[in-house]
Amino acid sequence: MTTRREPGNSLDQDRAATPAPVIEAKGLKKHFPVDTGVIAALVRRGPPRTVKAIDGVDVSVSSRSIFGLVGESGCGKSTLGMTLVRLYEPTAGRIFLSGEEVTHIHGDGLQQFRRRAQIIFQDPYGSLNPRLTVGEAVEEPLKIHGIGDRAERAVRVVESLERVNLQPRHFLHRYPHELSGGQRQRAVIARTLVLKPDFVVADEPISMLDVSIRAGILDLLEMLSKDLGLGVLYVSHDISTVRYVCDRVAIMYLGVFVEHGETDEVIDYPAHPYTQALMAAVPIADPTATRRRVELPGEVPTPIDIPSGCRFRTRCPCVMDICSRVAPPWQEVNPGHHVVCHLYQSSVTPTRLAKEAR
Ligand code: SF4
Repeated sequence: MTTRREPGNSLDQDRAATPAPVIEAKGLKKHFPVDTGVIAALVRRGPPRTVKAIDGVDVSVSSRSIFGLVGESGCGKSTLGMTLVRLYEPTAGRIFLSGEEVTHIHGDGLQQFRRRAQIIFQDPYGSLNPRLTVGEAVEEPLKIHGIGDRAERAVRVVESLERVNLQPRHFLHRYPHELSGGQRQRAVIARTLVLKPDFVVADEPISMLDVSIRAGILDLLEMLSKDLGLGVLYVSHDISTVRYVCDRVAIMYLGVFVEHGETDEVIDYPAHPYTQALMAAVPIADPTATRRRVELPGEVPTPIDIPSGCRFRTRCPCVMDICSRVAPPWQEVNPGHHVVCHLYQSSVTPTRLAKEAR
């Protein structure tokens, strides 16, 4: 039996079964104005246009867990991560850290928040200052936040490097150009951990690394999450790494979530046509295995001009008349597994539909 939910109230339902969220956002939006120049404003006809990078997302990440965020390039994954850690000012919605609202804090409050909410970027080469040794780079956030004297900071730097399996005596005095990609990313993670954050956004942290060292970084993230009680938002377009490391996953399309649930459940029984297409594109490491192909026609619409009704309707192989007129509500297709799609309001059993689509 399906459960109707209002769009936007996507993740609240599992709260009873999971620890209190370390970070939580409600109705989060981030719109970027376009045509902002004087000439553009003069020649523009109609109201100002905006890129709706995030357009009403509810998300909740618990401590000691890794929440995966999957979607095509340009769907808003990284913007969501950067908005959650207040690198972007939200256009609308609310953000809470450990239950305390941080949506519009400034000054000292924002500086405190930055200690507790950190981000690891995709590019370990661009994330480290080439003029600083690893030890200086890891110590830098402590200096910026005025934490400890020189001796105390040295102890924390050594602890942080040991946590990421970089032997301090070998790496403290090395420069970034002397490190491999994996060692650089470990140094970046050490710099993140030195502030003892509660929440970390890992924005495609392994996509620029050799395949041979990716598993080591993922294992490290998982270990840190469990040992230090971190809540991690893991942003990726790689389904296999999401399955490897994430407890829960959300699928994002054109600025909103379209499906979420336990990672294995969503990957094994994708319900939304978009998720099904993503899963169908994942290679299977078995030459005898076959999988139903799902091809999506057309391109992702521009986030300036989002389609009416269901925003996936211009590419959906299952599109129906209602899809262009009415935005679909959230449905629970299996316990804890939610999807926003009109297919699951029909008399067809949702679980059967999802299994047939595999
Ligand atoms: Fe496709 Fe309609 Fe479902 Fe959107 S609501 S995913 S267009 S079937």
